[in-house]
Amino acid sequence: MALEWVDCDFCGGSWTTPLFMLRDLKLGLPGEFRLVRCERCGLLYMNPRPTWNILQEHYPANYGSFQFNFSQRAWYGIIRRCKIVSTYQRSGRLLDVGCSIGTFLKKMGEFGSWELYGVEPVFIAAQFARTRFNLNIFQGTLSESCFPSEFFDVVTWWDALEHVPDPSTCLNETVRVLKPGGWLFVQTPDPNSWEARLFGSYWVGYDAPRHLFMFPRIVLLRKLEEIGFKVVQVGSFAGNASTVCKSIGHWLRSRHQEMLGNLLLRLADSSITQIAAAPFYVLLRYLDLTSSVLYIAQKLYQ
Ligand SMILES: [Zn+2]
Repeated sequence: MALEWVDCDFCGGSWTTPLFMLRDLKLGLPGEFRLVRCERCGLLYMNPRPTWNILQEHYPANYGSFQFNFSQRAWYGIIRRCKIVSTYQRSGRLLDVGCSIGTFLKKMGEFGSWELYGVEPVFIAAQFARTRFNLNIFQGTLSESCFPSEFFDVVTWWDALEHVPDPSTCLNETVRVLKPGGWLFVQTPDPNSWEARLFGSYWVGYDAPRHLFMFPRIVLLRKLEEIGFKVVQVGSFAGNASTVCKSIGHWLRSRHQEMLGNLLLRLADSSITQIAAAPFYVLLRYLDLTSSVLYIAQKLYQ
């Protein structure tokens, strides 16, 4: 596998501490990937990492985010995203970066008067969003998309910033395309969450090798403020029993408890598990203790 060595994307530093060797738990594809922490700024990143071309093999057509699911439960998380965005802005131009098959954009059309745009590097996902939902999708990266400056009222990154090879460049590009006063929404796994600490290399939030970066809250907060945002809200947003079940399942499998591990992996996404654990996760969200964090920030007027 072609691997590349990189310096820290946020600060340029090269002094790191190794944290874990990670495997592709989700798809079971071969390879072992090293997660390190930058000792200068605290950013977590994969180093060495697969080159961008090789990485595309880890996004096959059966990758979970590319599956269209009509179930009410599948739409629940998407509707929560729409509601939180419409709390801050109800009209204008909205860009969803890493929009996958376009379900958020499709639903957002029902939450106000929007001109909707998506950016998605994976062809099959971008094509699905175009043909199924008739959405305006740029297939490629945000840097390649070349939108005009100060064009958007809202830019969203739902579980996407950790996937890109150059988050610093992407965030700078996000500032450029947002209007002054425009809103940024970033949802990303929290590497300081109790789940991450408890499960270590078996925490599914690391999702190697697709997640090239992990952002401790203080690191992303500092970055957003540095590039011209005022962060107005940070806290647990999503979270359900699925990540805990899957993390335990993968841990059990590593302990040669294949049957029990596989059972938990199957139960992880079942309605029964989700419904049974829902009250607990409502409480965890309230206590800011889930493993998925949302940053809401406004581009400063200046
Ligand atoms: Zn750094």
